[in-house]
Amino acid sequence: NDNADQSTKPTRRLIVFSGPTAVGKGTVEHKLLHDHPGIWVSISATTRDKRPGEVDGVDYHFVTTDKFEQMERNGEFLETAVVHGMAHYGTPIQPLLDHMNAGIPTLVEIDLQGARRVKQRAKELGLDVMYVFLAPPTFDDLAKRLESRGTENAEQREKRLETARVEIAAESEFDRVIVNDEVDRAANELWGVIAQEYGLED
Ligand code: 5GP
Repeated sequence: NDNADQSTKPTRRLIVFSGPTAVGKGTVEHKLLHDHPGIWVSISATTRDKRPGEVDGVDYHFVTTDKFEQMERNGEFLETAVVHGMAHYGTPIQPLLDHMNAGIPTLVEIDLQGARRVKQRAKELGLDVMYVFLAPPTFDDLAKRLESRGTENAEQREKRLETARVEIAAESEFDRVIVNDEVDRAANELWGVIAQEYGLED
């Protein structure tokens, strides 16, 4: 019976923060962390190249494909995804469990495939997950954002936009949708969702 189950297992609360490519998840997340440093955000492993300014072990754990596959075989990930048909990304599970078990507000910022994978595994892992989707105000806005970011060439941008067009339709799979019309406002709305989930003061 469900009640007996709940009394014996710790509640592992998790916020899954997802959305289409280049919608600005990273920027909103940084603002959230800046304002609320008590939140813990999972550090993913990735096989993609480090961008200028990124720090290994802070932004990502930058690993080789061999290392990533070894971690995958060892069951070290909550979920993994190949994003944009190029690099592997994965959420290391142990640090996540440690923070959730300690009752620390815990957030993962992952792509849509990853969010769906968490949904499949949530029950097995005893996770109580709040799924939050960050949406662009419009599709044109997303295209502009991707271009101004300047981290991809035209061909890569085209590929990411193709993905984004499909991804935007997925918002109905989420508990909450936040429109990224303005970073500070979106980060504040996300904080509101987290505060409510964890019963924290504003
Ligand atoms: P970027 O390479 O621009 O940092 O991230 C590309 C995409 O990968 C973003 O949509 C980001 O949310 C996603 N991502 C980052 N880490 C993970 C992860 O551990 N798992 C999954 N599924 N996606 C991730």
